Amino acid sequence: MQSQKDKFSLTLQGLAKSGRQWDEVIPLSLLADVSFGDLNVKSPLFSDMQWKGSLEPVAGQFVLTGAWQMSVPRRCGRCNVEFASNMQADVYMVYELGKQHQDLAVEEELSSEDCEKELLPSPGELNMVDVLREQFWLAWQPMVVCSKDCKGLCLQCGVDLNRDTCDCHGQVKENPFAALKDFKFDA
Ligand SMILES: [Zn+2]
Ligand SMILES: [Zn+2]
Repeated sequence: MQSQKDKFSLTLQGLAKSGRQWDEVIPLSLLADVSFGDLNVKSPLFSDMQWKGSLEPVAGQFVLTGAWQMSVPRRCGRCNVEFASNMQADVYMVYELGKQHQDLAVEEELSSEDCEKELLPSPGELNMVDVLREQFWLAWQPMVVCSKDCKGLCLQCGVDLNRDTCDCHGQVKENPFAALKDFKFDA
């Protein structure tokens, strides 16, 4: 029986000359592993991943290009409301089939700044779910906002300024030294 995970497995060595194309949904249940521990994978704000891409043999190398997209429950860094954050990114990776027992020094030498290059020991086992999970974390932003216009919380009283107003701000602006009014300074 071929499991869903196997569906996304391949070897570079076994890749057809025409390459391989995907226009698929990667189920969240496959994508979510221990690295998703802090995320609520049961949240309805989570979606599966849409993945459209291809892997093609080019001059002895293997070029993976494409784009993915998914929504993820996040807390707004300004107003703290939970919302569905839309994540998406392009993928551009180059793989090369190395000899077995390739040492790590060679792998580092191969990586350049403009693209990610990875040397895989023969036969070049690749699992798209693992690759895309890595891409997901590469695209992860530690702080996100629910909207670029989010007004956030009032730093003084904690009111959500998207839904409510408060007086704190106005007062502070009018006279930031109001509290010092009755303070006697020593000469
Ligand atoms: Zn917000
Ligand atoms: Zn306030």
